[in-house]
Amino acid sequence: MAIDAFGRRIDYLRISLTDRCNLRCVYCMPAAGVAWKDHDEILSLEEIERFAAIAVGEGISKIRLTGGEPLVRKGVVGHVRRLRALTGLEAIALTTNGTLLARYAAPLVEAGLTRVNISLDSLDPAVFERVTRGGKLADALAGLDAAFAAGMGPVKVNAVVVRGLDQDLLAFARLTLDRPVHVRFIEYMPVGGASEGGECEPAGEGWTRADHVSAEEILERLTAEGTAAGLGALEPVRRGDAPGGWGPARYYRYAGAPGTVGVITPLSHHFCGECNRLRLTADGRLRACLFSDEEIDVRSVLRGGTDADVRDLIRTALATKPESHSSRVGTARGMSQIGG
Ligand code: SAM
Ligand code: SF4
Repeated sequence: MAIDAFGRRIDYLRISLTDRCNLRCVYCMPAAGVAWKDHDEILSLEEIERFAAIAVGEGISKIRLTGGEPLVRKGVVGHVRRLRALTGLEAIALTTNGTLLARYAAPLVEAGLTRVNISLDSLDPAVFERVTRGGKLADALAGLDAAFAAGMGPVKVNAVVVRGLDQDLLAFARLTLDRPVHVRFIEYMPVGGASEGGECEPAGEGWTRADHVSAEEILERLTAEGTAAGLGALEPVRRGDAPGGWGPARYYRYAGAPGTVGVITPLSHHFCGECNRLRLTADGRLRACLFSDEEIDVRSVLRGGTDADVRDLIRTALATKPESHSSRVGTARGMSQIGG
């Protein structure tokens, strides 16, 4: 079992398969994109699998594949199948923008992956196109349908709430009425573009405090709009009845709905005390905290060291994982490079 210096059990590894993406979400990437890493800077799938095997031996039991957009990485299905075969790994999950999922959902399920989070920030095609700078909502919705058709579950939809985007939150909540979709609203985080001044100009168009919408406000809006629309109030879901998850979401439900509405509040309610994760970036850096720029170079050890050397790096990450991110604003690398 992997325990860090503050007694937290670390059993969850997020692996970024690529820094590349087929979208350019305004809050995640600059319009011109970011300079992609060269091919040899990115870990090969074999290197990732070796690292994962060692990490599982150290106590990691859950792996999430992310990016950039993980489904643009060639060979992703075989990669899932090989990771799934690791003894000691309980589950593997995917975070995707969904636009390529119609093609991949069935093979992924066949390879052993059923847990999927689809990031989707608007259900209005014009707003979706604006937020993603050119993406097609129909592609993401086809991905959502394909996830259900292929038998994936739990299926979650993650929406980052940004005040300036003027999103229709109730439209998302309505997704929970017909199918077991678990919609989670995520507070907008100041990642990327670290600056001394307390604001940041992140990878995207620029995080400001004014764009941050707290979970309390999200829930108040959903209750008011849901009541006006005849859906009633959101009722809290007990932990045991919530969709299985690896993170600190709080869940609610409209009466009788098969799906749930969740909120994830990294800023307004710190959950560092429950943090259970490590991150491996596509270029082979081990990151113990999303908000800390301390990274451990795993790539060069994977290319020149022994398994014991790699294991030592994992132990160093556990020993140096910060207790909390306090109110840090901005990071050296953007979310598409860290993996969310
Ligand atoms: N491309 C995939 C996707 O969009 O799901 C995986 C990578 S993306 C970086 C992972 C998650 O980070 C997405 O849900 C995205 O919405 C979220 N994200 C990106 N920038 C964010 C920010 N500044 N605050 C909160 N979430 C953010
Ligand atoms: Fe790509 Fe995901 Fe970032 Fe959007 S949030 S630009 S889909 S990596």
